[in-house]
Amino acid sequence: MQHLRPGTIRLSAVASVAADGAPVVHVDGEEHPVDLVIAADGIRSDARARWGLDRGIRYAGYTAWRGITTTAGHLADEAGETWGRGARFGIVPLPDDRVYWFATHQTPPGGTDDDVLATVHSLFGNWHAPIGALLAATPPEAVLRHDIHDLVALPASFVHGRGVLLGDAAHAMTPDLGQGAGQAIEDAATLALLLRGASTQHLEDALSQYDQLRRPRTRSLWRQSRLTGRIGQAAHPACATLRDAALRAVTSAVAAEAWPAPNGGRRPSQKASTVDRSSSAGRPPMTGRSPRLRVPVTPGRPVAGQSSAARSARRRPCTWASRERISW
Ligand SMILES: Cc1cc2nc3c(=O)[nH]c(=O)nc-3n(C[C@H](O)[C@H](O)[C@H](O)COP(=O)(O)OP(=O)(O)OC[C@H]3O[C@@H](n4cnc5c(N)ncnc54)[C@H](O)[C@@H]3O)c2cc1C
Repeated sequence: MQHLRPGTIRLSAVASVAADGAPVVHVDGEEHPVDLVIAADGIRSDARARWGLDRGIRYAGYTAWRGITTTAGHLADEAGETWGRGARFGIVPLPDDRVYWFATHQTPPGGTDDDVLATVHSLFGNWHAPIGALLAATPPEAVLRHDIHDLVALPASFVHGRGVLLGDAAHAMTPDLGQGAGQAIEDAATLALLLRGASTQHLEDALSQYDQLRRPRTRSLWRQSRLTGRIGQAAHPACATLRDAALRAVTSAVAAEAWPAPNGGRRPSQKASTVDRSSSAGRPPMTGRSPRLRVPVTPGRPVAGQSSAARSARRRPCTWASRERISW
């Protein structure tokens, strides 16, 4: 940062790019010549449209609410996600003992909440413990609501002349694998490495390599994210039943081996099972719109002495409960 000339960074300025990919940026009516334009202007990227690379965005069919409790370490001590019909609820304990939660629901786009917590409570309040308690421990100002969109298709190229797309502008995906921001960071790291030491004469080569490296990787994650969202959000009773049956077919033994517990060798299946914990706590069983299946998502290292079968089970892609999915 100390190498930048004063005024190089302009906050709150709206920039636009040249349609032909020329290395200029327009800010507040002024034209600024540059060596390279990096457009990281998000899912509704104006640069992507101006460069003729936009193939549209698509509503994924569900809305997400995200919140963080004030202090609630005792409410949830493990990460996990519960799948219902057209609805999901995820819990992620934070290092400072607060809990981050997310909830999704099949909803028409463009909705708003008069009382955001009342909305989430009406949708998930009758789900298993500790969901109700987490909602009660969350102040309304700590809740975000977003309709989930992704790109209809990735651009045919991430590069246009001396312009390059980065992050959601290039490959906005649904958050179902928790990879959107991560991929933006990978883009930036890749571009920085390719540009290191590259002269302006060699920019084209570097940009072409960036496109070749980044497009296949992000396309694959964009597809997998969409698929994961569709499976997780299955709303039709027959689809949800099939999904749940398929997931149960991944026997608890395999699941237990696939997600070794981080400490003490205690496996997720012993703690986070497909059985609602609230029933063992003497609470009434789940009813109505209640969740059908609980997917344990426990980050952890392989435990010592683990079998090779277990290791290969862990490597095997498991679309609906990949260990990459602690996200949102
Ligand atoms: C509900 C939800 C949960 C998510 N969970 C995760 C997760 O767990 N893990 C993960 O990795 N990702 C997650 N994501 C995705 C992640 O938020 C995005 O992938 C990431 O923010 C993309 O970063 P970006 O910089 O490319 O775009 P953005 O964050 O959209 O930033 C683009 C910026 O460009 C600015 N801008 C736009 N146009 C102009 C212009 N013309 N001139 C100047 N500035 C402009 C905008 O104001 C904005 O500040 C989630 C997304 C959602 C909606």
